[in-house]
Amino acid sequence: MIEKSSIETLKQRLDIVEVVGSYVELKKNGANYKCICPFHNDTTPSLVVSPSKQIYHCFACGAGGDSIKFVMEYEKLSYPETIEKLARMSNFSLSYTTNDGVKKEESKLMETLNLFYIKHLDTHLHVNEYLHQRGISEASREKFELGYAPSSQMTLDFLRSHGYMMSEAIEYGVAGLGESGGAYARFIERLSFPIYSPSGKLVGFGGRTLSNHPAKYVNSPQTKYFNKSQLLYGYHLAKEHIFKRHSIIITEGYLDVIMLHQAGFSHAVATLGTALTQEHVPLITRGDPEVIVAYDGDMAGVNAALKASMLLSQHGIKGGVVLFGGGMDPADMVQNGMSVELERLFHTPQPFIEFAIERIVKKYPLHDPLAKQSALNEAMLYLKTLPQALQESYTGLLSSTLNINQNLIKVKTHTQKRLDKKERSFEDMLELTIIKTILNEPSLIDTVLDTIDIAMFKTHGEEFSLLLHNQFEHPKLRRIVMWDDIKVYTESELIASMIGFLHSYYFEAFQTIKSAKHLSYEKKQFLIRKIQEKLHTLKKGELVPYESISTF
Ligand code: ZN
Repeated sequence: MIEKSSIETLKQRLDIVEVVGSYVELKKNGANYKCICPFHNDTTPSLVVSPSKQIYHCFACGAGGDSIKFVMEYEKLSYPETIEKLARMSNFSLSYTTNDGVKKEESKLMETLNLFYIKHLDTHLHVNEYLHQRGISEASREKFELGYAPSSQMTLDFLRSHGYMMSEAIEYGVAGLGESGGAYARFIERLSFPIYSPSGKLVGFGGRTLSNHPAKYVNSPQTKYFNKSQLLYGYHLAKEHIFKRHSIIITEGYLDVIMLHQAGFSHAVATLGTALTQEHVPLITRGDPEVIVAYDGDMAGVNAALKASMLLSQHGIKGGVVLFGGGMDPADMVQNGMSVELERLFHTPQPFIEFAIERIVKKYPLHDPLAKQSALNEAMLYLKTLPQALQESYTGLLSSTLNINQNLIKVKTHTQKRLDKKERSFEDMLELTIIKTILNEPSLIDTVLDTIDIAMFKTHGEEFSLLLHNQFEHPKLRRIVMWDDIKVYTESELIASMIGFLHSYYFEAFQTIKSAKHLSYEKKQFLIRKIQEKLHTLKKGELVPYESISTF
């Protein structure tokens, strides 16, 4: 674990302007900086960075926070990953502790071993020949740090001679223990592919046999650093391109990734010899890209693509499937100079839901009415797992695929409520000023609470409530703090504005009560007198204590 005190020291060194400025172009704007917000589809600079408050805030989408939050959101990293990233950016050495609180140096075993593998690549002619034959360029070898794992003995000797304990090598998954209790290297006579975490930490290896071993590919075993269901090969290199292009290509092979990058499709990644699972979803959806599942057109590939389509569509992820036919995988296509063809394929994937419905139906011989019913049942079972609005949109497609009447397909429909509330265009500057003034000078809250109730806020009651609940990090309050057009009052200005605020409130209440039809004459007279007293006091420039109208 990263030591708490070292995180604190790092935090103090961070400058929000430097951090945000290293990702987006900032323009000076008074005491603050402005930029196009990277968190929504921004056209005007909506994001404001405040050096004095060390926070940022987007006035359009509400994104905001401190330096750490910015990097977390921008790079879609976890908190510890972000801390490590920021430490690297500012040349800061973090201290780590083990679970029992003992300080620990970060081990370089994986990096050292990777260099050992890379060094061995050149000394093995047949490996070079293989790479050449697959069309992998020199630049790609370097970019993906391809290497060669020699014999078990050589690897173990190397690790020992560099002072690494076997227990550590086992912990990192690069060595294992045989039945006789002796250690062996996990990767033996294999082309090595280092596998990095999304934040760029070397966590495991993949190895392809070049000596006809029955297992063509092996990967690091599950370790505390390496969880293959949460990792994607090449992600750390593709990340930036995924965010820029708003697109991610998911393939099944390491060589596919390397060759696609080589042909300019730098947003390609691969699963690590496993099917796409629920656990991959958080990583895949970082940056909200369109997802292109690019698999083999053979039966195994189609089935894997069907499962992936169902999984991704259930999560409301947009994108589709590209299948490769004729025994050509993406790597072969790049090697055969078919980049234009690839480009066209990636531009026109078959949408996930369409693909899934078509493939489910194709499993059944539709000339048989009973099979047709089964196809309908299975497709409906799938449709029902989708978000409601999508279910309705696809009943038409399902009925035409099955060649049955659409009325036979019943999807439970609720009347779609208009969830997108009408955007609030009205800002009550007086309410906002009162809130901002209290945010700036919290001791004024008592004065305000004696006279004003949350129910009196017509437009910004929610913000006032957040304030009363100390939700200072909430975007709606941050927006008020960062909005320069809202003034901060002195105490006397605040009182004067509250008198105005209360006057308009009680005057309106007065009008309402006068025209109220459900009140008895006596009650009406009583309330009107009460309110008139209040208005009178306010006119003299004095505050009036708050009383709920219903308790008058
Ligand atoms: Zn924004």
